[in-house]
Amino acid sequence: MAKKWVYLFDELDQVTSYVGGDWENVRGLLGGKGAGLADMTKLGLPVPPGFTVTTEACNSYHAGMKFPEQIWEQELAALNEVEARTGKEFGDGKNPLLVSCRSGAKFSMPGMMDTVLNIGLNGDTVKGMIEATGDPRFVYDSYRRLIQMFGSVVVGLPTEPFEEVIAEFRKARGVKSDTELTADDWKAVIERFSNIFQRYSHICFPADPYEQLRLATEAVFKSWNGKRAVDYRNAAKIPHDLGTAVNIQTMVFGNMGKDSATGVAMTRNATTGERKLEGDYLIDAQGEDVVAGIRTTYPVEQMAQTMPSAWNQFAETAVRLEQHYRDMQDVEFTVERGALWMLQTRSGKRTAQAAVRIAVDMAGEGLITREEAVMRVTPEQVDFFLHPQFNPSSKRTAKSEGKLLATGLNVSPGAAVGMVAFKADLAESWAKNEGKKVIMVRPETKPDDVHGMLAAEGILTSRGGRTSHAALVARQFGKPAVVGVAALDIDIGRHLMTVGDQLIREGEWISVDGSTGEVFLGQVETMVPDISDPWLMKLLQWADDFRVLGVWANADYPHDAKRAREYGASGIGLCRTEHMFFQAERLPMVQKLIMTNEPTERREALDALLPFQREDFVGLFEAMDGLPVIIRLIDPPLHEFLPGFEQLMRELTDSKIRLLNARNLQEIDELLRKIEEDEHILRSVETLRESNPMLGLRGVRLGIIMPELTQMQVRAIFEAACHCAKQGVDVHPEIMIPLTAHVNELIAQRKTLETVATAVMEEHAITIDYKFGTMIEVPRAALTADEIAEHAEFFSFGTNDLTQTTYGISRDDAEKGFLIDYIQLGILPENPFVSIDDKGVAKLMKMAVELGRKTRPDLEVGICGEHGGDPKSIAVCHNLGLNYVSCSPFRVPIARLAAAQVALKERSKDSRQTG
Ligand code: ADP
Ligand code: MG
Ligand code: MG
Repeated sequence: MAKKWVYLFDELDQVTSYVGGDWENVRGLLGGKGAGLADMTKLGLPVPPGFTVTTEACNSYHAGMKFPEQIWEQELAALNEVEARTGKEFGDGKNPLLVSCRSGAKFSMPGMMDTVLNIGLNGDTVKGMIEATGDPRFVYDSYRRLIQMFGSVVVGLPTEPFEEVIAEFRKARGVKSDTELTADDWKAVIERFSNIFQRYSHICFPADPYEQLRLATEAVFKSWNGKRAVDYRNAAKIPHDLGTAVNIQTMVFGNMGKDSATGVAMTRNATTGERKLEGDYLIDAQGEDVVAGIRTTYPVEQMAQTMPSAWNQFAETAVRLEQHYRDMQDVEFTVERGALWMLQTRSGKRTAQAAVRIAVDMAGEGLITREEAVMRVTPEQVDFFLHPQFNPSSKRTAKSEGKLLATGLNVSPGAAVGMVAFKADLAESWAKNEGKKVIMVRPETKPDDVHGMLAAEGILTSRGGRTSHAALVARQFGKPAVVGVAALDIDIGRHLMTVGDQLIREGEWISVDGSTGEVFLGQVETMVPDISDPWLMKLLQWADDFRVLGVWANADYPHDAKRAREYGASGIGLCRTEHMFFQAERLPMVQKLIMTNEPTERREALDALLPFQREDFVGLFEAMDGLPVIIRLIDPPLHEFLPGFEQLMRELTDSKIRLLNARNLQEIDELLRKIEEDEHILRSVETLRESNPMLGLRGVRLGIIMPELTQMQVRAIFEAACHCAKQGVDVHPEIMIPLTAHVNELIAQRKTLETVATAVMEEHAITIDYKFGTMIEVPRAALTADEIAEHAEFFSFGTNDLTQTTYGISRDDAEKGFLIDYIQLGILPENPFVSIDDKGVAKLMKMAVELGRKTRPDLEVGICGEHGGDPKSIAVCHNLGLNYVSCSPFRVPIARLAAAQVALKERSKDSRQTG
């Protein structure tokens, strides 16, 4: 049998069995739109009859670059079926069938490939339609739309000449809206349209309905490889070989008068997630009028008053669709003379806040399980909660200063501050080449603007609704956006916009609040919000029930530790003690310590530092009462605490020149003293100078060469612990040695540590429950982890250094230079400092875990590198059987979700294998 390229909407069962039963494959073959139409047909919802030309047909078209006859024949056969079902005939002069031609790929690509409506109209069928409907105005309106859409979508003509004609007629008739133009007006418009069509394309508008259909189908196929579509797929990471399907569907008419309408809606609020139908509709309108922002739309719930019976049916349909798909739906519909028709359903795009709330609510409603709710929210969406918002007090100030310009629709949350750019190319070049922050401002956006929108901090439009192109793209890419700011008058030609008598030029600063819809003049201060969203809290609690990995945080200061705890961390996986050394009042002591060779001077410096360190640890222990705190002893090369060589040289030269010109003895004395001091520092700097400091005297090596340093730090830790324990704080310090490569390093440090620890505990007559362990961050440590585990009670992977030393790459040098080339050339699939290299570095980790636990089965193993907050790396850590991941406090919520997701994935894989 010949291959089936075309399926009627009611042949879903056939499609399902052809693709092997999987819904994703149905969507792959029919495209999202076609699959939705077939599915709604099967549910018994009112869907105008039609058929889908499959994505396989599109791919075979591109393989051969001509329209295979077989496909066209099957299209004609399907069209016959539709004629039979509707009792109308395509191209018939009396009772003509009209159809739309709609593209639809597997994944929704907003506005990429446009729909052509009213196919089948020509001089003859127009007459027949007028007779059948008795409504010439409606028929001519439909016909002019066909010529216009066919012109722009199929032939690629500009839309402006057509729009200008309509504007001219509106002006001549003194009316504001297209709906006020008469049948005769439209008839005259059609004349002009035909001429424009011919003038621009050098062909006549095809009068043969079959020719219209064939060309339209082919145009959809072609558009799959159009520049706009390819760019969008690149940005949205959609594969290029999926192809698009073509849906041919009987027309229903929302432009048949006051009891007709067309609309779009979400079954829940796409911004907040609230369970309430939300959308826009237009009476006496067709197709894209709603999203094009040409006429002002009404909120969909007003249908309850204007067309109550269609509204009730629509509201019921929305509930049924949600129950069927178990997700929030984005639907398109038309009401023709009071009768509801469903034209599209798909899962709705939503903001991060809405995604979380909908998942949690749906689990509460019993539509989905808690597991599903946790799987439905992406780590990036949780991340969004931690993005900047406007500081409420700065916003109040801005308002009181009269800087609130206007308010529009809050379609994609978050705060954005930038300079106004009216053109996508300018926005992109300002952002990319000049590093400027820009806000992309347009009357409305089109697919051609996407590159500018991606480069911008935020998006602002004067027209369009919640489902406009700007809103969809903004939500997709997490850009703050406000649309439909009617008060904004944009004059792109003159590079300015006005709000009332306020004038804003291109390049001026504005602030856009996508959460509230407000637009401010100037730069409003931003801040990171509290993540106290009740739905997010609940979702993360559920995630905690599913995850196996612990989530700890890296925190150096008590306030970081507090935040980490608030965000749900159950321990500190890394406290870097050296950060404490850099503070202004401590640095001189640290420098003295480093530069002296006198044991007494060194002792003095250490004694002076001790109370500071102790105080820091007290704060940390108090904040983490009851939870483990891993403290890493000093790690960086000592020269980091001294001024740079070049800077010192400059200062010395400067002082010497000044000495030459000194005018009195006192000045000479002072300069001499400074020169002597600087020369002393310079000598130390020179002594400490290393050609490869990252592989030099740092980490455990420092503690071995300068045991006093370890002693001081350990004393500070234990004094703090004893002090806290006496106050009733439950302390669990874990002392971590950095950069161990050989077990003997650990043995030596442990001895130093235990002596001090025992002494302090005896002084305070208290025993502290503590652990001693090491970082695993050089390959040798991983390779000899069995030996190391004899002396370490815990391991913590420092995957930054481990990646550097495994690859033999210095991160700073690489990321500034060749790493980008490596990734662009495809030599490395991705930056190994962002996601753990699962072939190399992960192999060393695996070895370390296995060897370590062979020696010490209860060995605690975690990770404290930045990778600990990266969802992909978290999955690697789960699979390696680590006890916890530790990451920055801000990433703790993300890590909680990611850890739950990998655990749930594993669970479902296991149950598939056993079940
Ligand atoms: P998009 O992918 O851009 O959403 P659609 O194919 O959904 O494009 O078409 C856009 C709009 O055109 C629809 O929302 C609907 O209002 C209108 N439309 C498409 N097909 C028909 C039809 N057969 N009858 C009436 N309106 C239609
Ligand atoms: Mg479209
Ligand atoms: Mg649509």
